[in-house]
Amino acid sequence: MAFPWSAKNLPKQIFINNEYVDSKSSKKLTVHNPTDGSLVADDIPLSGEQDVDAAVAAAEKAFPVWRKMAPNERRNIMLKFAQLVEDNAIAVAELTRVSLGAPYKAFGAFEIGLCAEAFRYNAGWIDKFGGESWPQEDGFLKIVRNEPLGVTAGIVPWNGPVGTIGLKAGPALAMGNCFILKPSEKTPLSSLALGSLIKEAGFPPGVFQILSGDGSTGALIASHMRIRKVSFTGSIATGKKIQEMAAKSNLKRVTLELGGKSPAVVFDDCDLENAVTWTANAITANTGQVCFAASRVYVQEGIYDKFIEKYKEAMKAKSKEVGDPEKEGTNIGPLVDEAQFKRVSGFIERGQKGQGKLLVGGQRIGDKGYYIEPTVFTDVDPNSEIHCQEIFGPVSVVRSFKTEEEIMKLSNDTNFGLMAGVFTQDINKALRVASEFESGMVGINCVSLMFMTSPFGGSKESGLGRECGIHALRAFTEPKTIMVNLTY
Ligand code: NAD
Repeated sequence: MAFPWSAKNLPKQIFINNEYVDSKSSKKLTVHNPTDGSLVADDIPLSGEQDVDAAVAAAEKAFPVWRKMAPNERRNIMLKFAQLVEDNAIAVAELTRVSLGAPYKAFGAFEIGLCAEAFRYNAGWIDKFGGESWPQEDGFLKIVRNEPLGVTAGIVPWNGPVGTIGLKAGPALAMGNCFILKPSEKTPLSSLALGSLIKEAGFPPGVFQILSGDGSTGALIASHMRIRKVSFTGSIATGKKIQEMAAKSNLKRVTLELGGKSPAVVFDDCDLENAVTWTANAITANTGQVCFAASRVYVQEGIYDKFIEKYKEAMKAKSKEVGDPEKEGTNIGPLVDEAQFKRVSGFIERGQKGQGKLLVGGQRIGDKGYYIEPTVFTDVDPNSEIHCQEIFGPVSVVRSFKTEEEIMKLSNDTNFGLMAGVFTQDINKALRVASEFESGMVGINCVSLMFMTSPFGGSKESGLGRECGIHALRAFTEPKTIMVNLTY
């Protein structure tokens, strides 16, 4: 079936039990286009308590059917869904673009691909995540089963609205759980549109459902007594609230993927071009609205001047790639909305008042929409807000350093711990530094990247638990130990 939805004709309904249905709540969400602030929709349902309860009831009913379905059947449904997402990539990405502003080639295609691949990767695990058994020489055979949790949920942010669905729903559904998706209030359209693909792929009713809503819907999910797990991606402040709600309700399992202020450490002996390319790409991809963007760049003094010259050039060139996401050649769109624009502009404005020196950028581009120049501050005060806080825009801060010891201390002097990068040709130094970074992920001669096969997530306040690889499967299952008395 051809993908039927555009922003105009998408049903402004939630997706429960394989049907688009009206929300029981009369509250609505409003979405604007960040290219010009125009209204996209003001009638998107804001799911309330009755909607969440209805989705949970449907999921509970579906759970025994789904978990007991033959593994190859479950796999085939997931593979079909992945194919449908990919077949309709442009139309789905368009529904994200109207409210996120991300160009298709530079971002939309990537995150749709990420979603499809996550479904395929996790579908491949269905008949391979087999459990364990332990020797019976002591008279007892121990069998460890990986069991699904039941009704699970994903609360996702606006900056990668479709990719994050794959990272959460993929492992949840592969392991036999039912899954309720709560997209961000800023980017609900592409998520809601997936309903028709869920049905077409053959998921039984109630297995995979979508509730649009805002933080209040998220809170209903996080504190629900019959949802057994929440996987959350978003800000640290919200992540902490979710963990608290989970603890105060039914101690549901929680995975938290939160913010970052990731360092890239560039040593004198690096390949300069490589370091400049990775660091400039890292802070401008998706207009800097990326949790693992390398937003602190530390450059050793011997290469500092040369690096700065080239980094400045690279960021100026990036400025030319900013524009209307619908136009050919645009790689960087606007910031997501007025609130984000004001937030990023505020950091830039205050940053110029004694926090650091503006090297490049700092201006709004055009007079409509939320476009901003890629911006770099040098000589930043390590205690300033632009150095310490997540800006979540195309803004980086640069400092020079003398010694490895000094820069490792500064790199780790933060409560964030998501990503780090080291640029050097000395493998001993690279591995030493990589092991000293207090972060969930480290790139050597690269930064701000991820792979489906390997754990993705943060240490310290950047997160709890991991997505991707076998770690995501563990996060959506509970081991059960069965002990067989063989002496009986
Ligand atoms: P946010 O925390 O404001 O919102 C994220 C989601 O949580 C949304 O769906 C929102 O509706 C919901 N929510 C808000 N308040 C809630 C509450 N009280 N209870 C339950 N749910 C609630 O974050 P955002 O602005 O959408 O996203 C930006 C943040 O996400 C940045 O900090 C970024 O670093 C982080 N992020 C992290 C990762 C990662 O993998 N580590 C990936 C992408 C984004």
